Amino acid sequence: MFYSEKSSDKFKECKICTENLLQDGINYVIEKAYEKNILSGKTELIYEYAICYDCIEQVIKSYSKKSITNINNFFINSIDLERRNYDLSGNENVEDWISTCVISGKKIENLDNYQISAMCVGENIIFSHFPMMISGDVMEEVQELISEETRNIMDGLKELLLPPTVGNRVPIFM
Ligand SMILES: [Zn+2]
Repeated sequence: MFYSEKSSDKFKECKICTENLLQDGINYVIEKAYEKNILSGKTELIYEYAICYDCIEQVIKSYSKKSITNINNFFINSIDLERRNYDLSGNENVEDWISTCVISGKKIENLDNYQISAMCVGENIIFSHFPMMISGDVMEEVQELISEETRNIMDGLKELLLPPTVGNRVPIFM
């Protein structure tokens, strides 16, 4: 599931700094977004990337204070972390972790579009608050939380990370 569909292999390089992700001690995040094709009814990959944690920290540092506060509050107020930890603790079946949207609780099979994320080190997934799935409508809500200033910075990254077909969407790291 958290393999690259483009290369049919593991993600090997950070999409931003091109660092080798499979070296010892490098933490990285994989994100993949899917959308249901209305004509075929099949769920198709819209984008995928892996980014090392150093780059993610750099990007988050560039967000405005207001954006960081808004995003953090949104997640803190929307996710019942205790419940999630209780339900999933000790479970290493990735499908269980991403079966419902972490915010809206909607089931993956009922969604027309969604994003999945995992934190990894080497070839292993780290089970903490990741892996998680976020539905497309929630991702749109999150987009509304970022300030104009942050949005401008993220537009630059968008060109590197997302295909032009995603419209107004920008990548958001949390
Ligand atoms: Zn990097």
